[in-house]
Amino acid sequence: MDTARLLEKQRTYFRSGATKSVEFRIHQLQTLKKLLSEHEDELFEAVYADFKKPELETYATELGILHNEISYTIRNLKNWAKPKRLKGTWINFPSSNYTIAEPYGAVLVIAPWNYPIQLALLPLVGAIAAGNTVVVKPSELTPHTTSVLSRLMSKWFKEEFIAIVEGGVETNQALLSEDFDHIFFTGSSRVGKIVMEAASKNLTPVTLELGGKSPCIVDDTADLETAAKRIAWGKFLNAGQTCVAPDYIMVKASVKDKFLEYLKESIRSFYGVNAKLSPDYPRIVNEDHFGRLVSYLSDGEIYYGGKTDQEECYIEPTILTDIKERAPVMEEEIFGPIVPIITFNDIGEAIDLINSKPKPLALYVFTREKETEDRIVEKCSFGSGAVNDVVAHLGNHHLPFGGVGKSGMGAYHGKKSFDTFSHFKGIMKKPLWLDIPFRYAPYKGKLKWI
Ligand code: NAD
Repeated sequence: MDTARLLEKQRTYFRSGATKSVEFRIHQLQTLKKLLSEHEDELFEAVYADFKKPELETYATELGILHNEISYTIRNLKNWAKPKRLKGTWINFPSSNYTIAEPYGAVLVIAPWNYPIQLALLPLVGAIAAGNTVVVKPSELTPHTTSVLSRLMSKWFKEEFIAIVEGGVETNQALLSEDFDHIFFTGSSRVGKIVMEAASKNLTPVTLELGGKSPCIVDDTADLETAAKRIAWGKFLNAGQTCVAPDYIMVKASVKDKFLEYLKESIRSFYGVNAKLSPDYPRIVNEDHFGRLVSYLSDGEIYYGGKTDQEECYIEPTILTDIKERAPVMEEEIFGPIVPIITFNDIGEAIDLINSKPKPLALYVFTREKETEDRIVEKCSFGSGAVNDVVAHLGNHHLPFGGVGKSGMGAYHGKKSFDTFSHFKGIMKKPLWLDIPFRYAPYKGKLKWI
């Protein structure tokens, strides 16, 4: 792939002004929606081939989210794209003031493997809405989905407007060496640093959607049965390969045993006693990740699960207790179906532990106490989160989605996506009928009037 030639082609197209009109953008979003509907079965099959993931889950976590986002964007785009009038100040009286949202130009979207359709196309929706041309680089670790996406997108869109570039690290490096107008990266913090460093050479603005360890607190006032069900759903969805999955659980010591019973029951009620036979339980993406996850199984006592099958990249939903000190499972992002349980006696301890680690992408708390909820939300810094639920908040396009600190910078979803891919140009317009001479020299005697 000649990345320089591709970028030049997109730049020429962008400069032609073709992407500027709101009508054009809406039409492209409608086209994307149509593509997703017409090729739904192919996309289901591709994701199944990569993860053994059931159709309902693929719809809920990939296609459904995209349909909602596209429809919402189409409905609101005219309004978002309008110039916005702002107040003036007495210094500039009289004047009218406004912002104009303009597209950055040619933007690059780099996606990870864990939700290979959603995470490649959701930023694309924002980029199209804002009027950019886009190069999308999906992950090489989901070959079936990436190849179907690439084939479909190149059939439905001109490459000077949207191009899907397949490839691994080298391709990414080649893309990162080009002078894009914005880079939107979703992936690990490790690669996020590489992206930011490459972007700095051209002073390219970046949005970094990264990962980390997202804590989940369960206190003794929580509805333990519902908490266990919701946590088990969010943790074992996509076999734990979700950036906002609850990474570890901190449960009040006095309710630990009861909570663990409910958690075990929830896993069994979702996937049966043998999750390997369940049509609803996906597999780990590849052997490298499988091996990494298996190594965590010896970091504590296996309370439930622990069975694995390398040939199928299968890891049973697993609950770990009695975690060893400084164990990697509590230091690294797990990103798989293993959940360590730690206990606390006072909520302050849980808050201190969270604040001793890098700021998480998500944080969850299960409690009936408003005071506990407020304390955690106020004292901990995190990207976004939920009270008495997990993961589901990212399906609400009214909430901005993104990290803070080591879990990322910038946000998207809904209107925030449009903003992320736009530059807001501020303009002041002055009439000529009044020209107050105060600002002009000579200044003598004017200071006393300020
Ligand atoms: P990754 O960082 O390994 O890869 C992401 C992308 O970067 C891929 O397209 C890959 O080809 C490319 N890449 C990999 N190594 C590179 C290098 N050395 N130089 C340049 N490019 C390189 O991430 P991943 O394993 O695909 O995804 C898992 C990570 O992504 C987890 O940390 C997870 O938390 C995070 N994630 C975050 C979000 C979010 O919205 N914040 C969503 C999903 C995943």
